Amino acid sequence: MARVLVIGCGGVANVAIRKCCMRSDIFGELCIASRTLSKCEALKAELDGKTKTVVTVAKVDADSFDELCALIRAYKPDLVMNIALPYQDRTIMDACLACGVNYMDTANYEPEDTDDPEWRKVYDARCKREGFSAYFDYSWQWAYKEKFEKAGLTALLGSGFDPGVTQVFCAYAQKHLFDEIDTIDILDCNGGDHGYPFATNFNPEINLREVSAPGSYWENGKWVEIPAMSIKREYNFEGVGDKDMYLLHHEEIESLAKNIKGVKRIRFFMTFGQSYLTHMKCLENVGMLSTVPVDFDGHKIVPIQFLKALLPDPASLGPRTVGKTNIGCIFTGRKDGKEKTAYIYNICDHQECYREVKSQAISYTTGVPAMIGAAMLVTGKWSKAGVYTAEQFDPDPFMADLNAYGLPWKVVDDPVLVK
Ligand code: NDP
Repeated sequence: MARVLVIGCGGVANVAIRKCCMRSDIFGELCIASRTLSKCEALKAELDGKTKTVVTVAKVDADSFDELCALIRAYKPDLVMNIALPYQDRTIMDACLACGVNYMDTANYEPEDTDDPEWRKVYDARCKREGFSAYFDYSWQWAYKEKFEKAGLTALLGSGFDPGVTQVFCAYAQKHLFDEIDTIDILDCNGGDHGYPFATNFNPEINLREVSAPGSYWENGKWVEIPAMSIKREYNFEGVGDKDMYLLHHEEIESLAKNIKGVKRIRFFMTFGQSYLTHMKCLENVGMLSTVPVDFDGHKIVPIQFLKALLPDPASLGPRTVGKTNIGCIFTGRKDGKEKTAYIYNICDHQECYREVKSQAISYTTGVPAMIGAAMLVTGKWSKAGVYTAEQFDPDPFMADLNAYGLPWKVVDDPVLVK
């Protein structure tokens, strides 16, 4: 039985931890460690008596290498699950290397301070070299590959839904459905309604940075970047209906372009309602999405962090969100010499998630794959030294666990394609 240290106790971590505690045969002991200890204690109090997993709590500032090392050395976990924020990825990876522990996360690294001159230098060079300008990219974490290999440790990057399950779907399509994949369209539809004029379904700062950035896609060996929200399509999603969706830059495109051999085009679309987009544009226009500190009455305030404090906590959306999500991948290519198309997707119901783990479907669809990724690592089903994304492992045990632990998927042939 494994001993796991979870860092972070927000919306996604809450689901992942509750799901781990439903599999006490694998997750024998679990420490919930976060910045705000009271949140860890509240979750532990809910779990006590309902699980055989031995749950403990700790306070940690995951921006501090020393604090992380002290906690890891004291708890001696088999795996550290980083479900805090992407800002902490590198510090937690450093601590895992120093202490000889496996690592996983749900989102790739991005800096909290995008004005940091040292980071800017590397970022500007990457923008020129690669041709996309998102603040997040894999290069920072791929740089740890050799160190993890030498240490005989595994780092699994991005084990949420997208990234995460979407890459497992791609690996499954490559293994079972296609000889050659030409195109991949990742479609992320949230048909949920929380009743607020404006709220984000996961951490507002990370979410708003992502969707207000220029879009981009991979085509014929290079990135094509477009102004934010400038490519719009309509799609009819099973379980949801017709929705407008917009092309975004998304991190898994970067790794899939390397790992799905011969792929010619990869795009990512996410659905947004008009009200969300109008609010976001207005907030952007007045400077509320800025990460650059401003002086206000003698205080330094980061506008997007102030906005986060005003918006509903994503963890509080659970009871009031109704409707479904539908997330998956559409493939075109060839099998046995014949042209072929296929769509692999999961439909998830916000209220069913709430009944099971007191959370809406966005945290659920991220937290369940985080638990499954952890299970793959601690049971040795996914085991090789180095730094990897999900499509680099055998998809079959992960796909089986998706069916068994709340995110059943289906494969449909000849789907409607996105123009
Ligand atoms: P939340 O903001 O709800 O939770 C973040 C948690 O991390 C909080 O408990 C917070 O503590 C803690 N934290 C933040 N900074 C530190 C720190 N320095 N030290 C210790 N703990 C810290 O975020 P979500 O749960 O919505 O998202 C978690 C992660 O999941 C993010 O990285 C997000 O990008 C990713 N994600 C991935 C998706 C996917 O499909 N792959 C989809 C959705 C999200 P405190 O309570 O004190 O603020």
